Amino acid sequence: MTREGEERLDGGWLRVKVPLPFALRYVNSYLIPDDDGWTLVDPGLRTPDAEGLWLDVLRRCGIHAADIRAIVLTHQHPDHIGLAGWFQERSGAPVYMSERAYAYAMRLWGPGRTFTAELQALYRENGLPRGMEEALAEHLESFVAMVSPLPEPVFIQGGGTIGIGGQVWEILDTPGHADGHLCFWQRESRIMLCGDQVLPGITPNISLVPGAEPGVLARYLHSLAELETFETILAYPGHRDPFRCMRDRIGEIRAHHVRRLAAMEEMLAEPLTGYEVCMRLFGERVQGSLHNLRFAMSETLAHLEHLAGEGRAASARGADGILRWRFC
Ligand SMILES: [Zn+2]
Repeated sequence: MTREGEERLDGGWLRVKVPLPFALRYVNSYLIPDDDGWTLVDPGLRTPDAEGLWLDVLRRCGIHAADIRAIVLTHQHPDHIGLAGWFQERSGAPVYMSERAYAYAMRLWGPGRTFTAELQALYRENGLPRGMEEALAEHLESFVAMVSPLPEPVFIQGGGTIGIGGQVWEILDTPGHADGHLCFWQRESRIMLCGDQVLPGITPNISLVPGAEPGVLARYLHSLAELETFETILAYPGHRDPFRCMRDRIGEIRAHHVRRLAAMEEMLAEPLTGYEVCMRLFGERVQGSLHNLRFAMSETLAHLEHLAGEGRAASARGADGILRWRFC
């Protein structure tokens, strides 16, 4: 870091580590200059700490709100979209994101939102203990303030292009980590803005959640195979440090999922609920953190769904309404 909060990268880019109140600690935002001003990629979760950091960074770097000409979102997770509306109010900049990502954000945090009740029902039939449902609802509601106001979007989609930093970037549909996730590829310099689809050091969360298209892990693995065809020499991720040789990292992530699926198949020699599988896989790592439990539970369900899709496991509903899984 040249100064607290921001780091100067090649091409005059600024990387800002925006703090998060979770285990991940920070999300990477990128400020990319061109002749007209700056493009802001994934501004971070809205918290008082994050707002304070941004005001400091902008002041130190001599960037006025009106200098931000475009805000680009890789996906709608709160740690990426959270400050988009806050920045849009100050800058008047368009917020570019996919239509699917925006629809998903509205189901989670928009008026008449239905996601919390749907997630409770999904987890209930997969064995989440009753007493945890209300705490889960409170936890989900706590995010509303951290993503408000939601931005007014301009929709972009895979197959199109967008100008960032005076260069043309190809927009890639990359589902799996989030419905409607986009990556951005600069062909001449072979650089990828990859959001959370491929991360160094940690495996991106793959979650089964209500309302997502079926086969989330299958779609993720398919997307990785597509990303592997790009000769990316430098990738700018949503978390951790920029990394080289994206293909190598994709290979490691794929191997992780193969191992995880095999371990789960072995576990299912006895009938287990999704929650029981989750506890065996993640156990202590999720104790005391609803945030971590939610990620672990949805990740487990995504893998169970994948095993079912491959004919390697099946679930049956008991008289208590709970699904129990077994290998087949
Ligand atoms: Zn994410």
